[in-house]
Amino acid sequence: MNIHLICTGTELLIGHTLNTNQQFIGDCLDRAGYRLATERCIPDTGEAIAAAVREELARADLVITVGGLGPTTDDLTRDAVARELGARLKYDPEVHAVITAYLAGRNVPVPAESLRVQAMVPEGATALPNRNGTAPGLWCPAPGGKFVVLLPGPPRELQPMFRDQVLPRLRELAPPEVVRLSFAVCGRPESAVAEVVEHELATFPGIEPAYCAHPAQVEVRLSAAPAFRERLELARARLTECLGDDVLPAGCTDPAQAVATMLLERRLWLATAESCTGGGIAKTVTDLPGASAWFCGGVVAYSNDWKECLLDVPDHLLTDHGAVSAETAGAMLDALFRRYEADAGIAVTGIAGPAGGTPDKPVGLVYIATGLRTRQQVTRHLFPGNRDSVRQRTITTALNQLRLQLLQNA
Ligand code: AMP
Ligand code: MG
Repeated sequence: MNIHLICTGTELLIGHTLNTNQQFIGDCLDRAGYRLATERCIPDTGEAIAAAVREELARADLVITVGGLGPTTDDLTRDAVARELGARLKYDPEVHAVITAYLAGRNVPVPAESLRVQAMVPEGATALPNRNGTAPGLWCPAPGGKFVVLLPGPPRELQPMFRDQVLPRLRELAPPEVVRLSFAVCGRPESAVAEVVEHELATFPGIEPAYCAHPAQVEVRLSAAPAFRERLELARARLTECLGDDVLPAGCTDPAQAVATMLLERRLWLATAESCTGGGIAKTVTDLPGASAWFCGGVVAYSNDWKECLLDVPDHLLTDHGAVSAETAGAMLDALFRRYEADAGIAVTGIAGPAGGTPDKPVGLVYIATGLRTRQQVTRHLFPGNRDSVRQRTITTALNQLRLQLLQNA
């Protein structure tokens, strides 16, 4: 099934709104075993919408449009598509009733004409009720057994409609074309991961790998025809064996999730002491719901004074070795156990740049100290990239270092 997506909205083209609907639809289709063949983004004009629908319909089996279903003057998709399909727009009292019911009790005055516009359905089309807004989606048959699906732009309206109403209809039209598996690998460069994967997959014909590199982490995706589902599982098992502890547990997309599971199981409390990441590690772990059951807190100590006051880093140590040193990272970690009574800790100090580097201590130099009360480790890194990259790599690498220690201490 050839699926094409058209995103309408001048705000997308001028960069005022990030096109998250493309990402959501692409991801949903991929997980369901379908492929989004192409996407295009067009301005809010009737001509642009009509031309895009005509062109995409010539090559696709299913064209999805997003946006422009509301009641304002720049909402032109319904009209443009109906015209393009040669379908008359008809007022649908049932759709009107659904919209009125949605608005009942919400106390939002909506002009009668705007309600009427949103209750117009192209002849032959099915309205897809909108649980989170007024404009329904529209599932429209097109010549040649094809379809055009019109969806509302606001992500909170589009997402449930796509999952609950579009995907099931898609499954009725055609079975999934691919099965996919993915897993995350931490602590190995993309090329090193790829080398292992390519080598091992030679014995698993029909399995296609793809890689997505994130800072300090690589996502490996394996795809195959549905008939090879079992082979796909075997391939994953083999790769997990070869890549060992660098593979995150199934379902984990970053090392924080694996750390969380182990801390919770062992009833251990984590604390963090951060300099160059400015609280990024604390943010990452508290992004996980339920973090209050294993994370006691974090200290962000940027200046030397604060490293002394809040983390007991001795003055002589800062003078002799500097704030960015293995000694300082180790002392920061120590304080988490002594002063804050944590069971597990992460401390980081580094030079994120762009300024502040010296020949001895260049931008990207980071020391990461992690461990449990009984077992600690300080590592030195030279991370590439800009400030954002150095900080993100520090966060992921630090969490992964603790993950590996927890695994060894099982
Ligand atoms: P529309 O249905 O085109 O009037 O869009 C309604 C709202 O959804 C606006 O705030 C848009 O910026 C937003 N929106 C439309 N398309 C997208 C998209 N592709 N990604 C994210 N937001 C969008
Ligand atoms: Mg729009």
